[in-house]
Amino acid sequence: MIRATGLSKSYGPIEALRDVSFDIARGQIVGLLGPNGAGKTTTIKILTGYLQPDAGSVQVDGLDVLTHTREVQAKIGYLPESAPLYPELSVQAYLRMIADLRQVPEQEQPLRLSAAIRATGLDQHLTRPIGELSKGYRQRVGLAQAILHRPKLLILDEPTLGLDPTQIVEIRSLIRRLAEHSTVLFSTHILSEVEALCDRVVILINGQIRADAHLSELAATPHAILVLERAPEGVEVALSRLAGASGVEAMANPDGYPTYRVLGQDVQGGDLCPAIYDLARESAWPLRELRRDVRTLETVFNKLATAA
Ligand code: ATP
Repeated sequence: MIRATGLSKSYGPIEALRDVSFDIARGQIVGLLGPNGAGKTTTIKILTGYLQPDAGSVQVDGLDVLTHTREVQAKIGYLPESAPLYPELSVQAYLRMIADLRQVPEQEQPLRLSAAIRATGLDQHLTRPIGELSKGYRQRVGLAQAILHRPKLLILDEPTLGLDPTQIVEIRSLIRRLAEHSTVLFSTHILSEVEALCDRVVILINGQIRADAHLSELAATPHAILVLERAPEGVEVALSRLAGASGVEAMANPDGYPTYRVLGQDVQGGDLCPAIYDLARESAWPLRELRRDVRTLETVFNKLATAA
């Protein structure tokens, strides 16, 4: 549905994106995750044809965004970071205006309007001026305008930014419902949002893609944590030679004890704690702690963010 290839963009001396490439298949719900200033909004503006990259290209549903901007925009429902709503207009009048602007044929408008209103739960608020609505309901109006023309692709820039916890839950379940009919890409800096909603996450840090994976791959990697009183020679090499070990990382420990993360699984698919225990005993290592841990999206993200 989306193919972004080698996107780069600078604002004067600020390099906002560097050689960013990713594909998004039809029907996926993908989170573009990154800290503030990572380049999420810049990426989204380029994907939606509102900003030209310095280098690279984007295809949406097989069409080049640069050469077929209008056709691509007609396929996309876009919720910008701050949706341009008109506070003095009623919800109904605003959505009618958008339907006209998007050239939804007159005879189709009642059907499209009522479908968007129903999907976003705005039925009880149609005559209220947008300026009087709560932030959560204004966000619903933003989503209603994004789906009015039944887009194949929904691109949402920080859709829950500034909402309270109840509104966040509501907007997330609304996004989940919308994803039944469209491919969805949304940006966020909130990890739990990605975990709650996505099939896949693309992690953007300092304008570069640092990870692109299915959530199941990131969320369920078991590993063992070994803490020793002091570090005997050759610990890391010995750990990395264990059957099933796929990597050993020395970790920072606030207490100052040498600490290692041993990635990988034994032949039964379990963690490597029993094998590490045997090795530590045979080698007379001064064992302080040995435990199983699961690499979560949070540990992956924090590691990438601090390495940046
Ligand atoms: P946030 O989560 O804070 O919205 P983001 O991940 O969406 O951040 P961008 O808004 O794409 O990041 O910004 C990426 C970098 O480009 C930042 O350093 C930002 O300051 C810079 N930037 C963005 N827009 C402009 C602009 N119009 N002029 C100059 N610099 C800009």
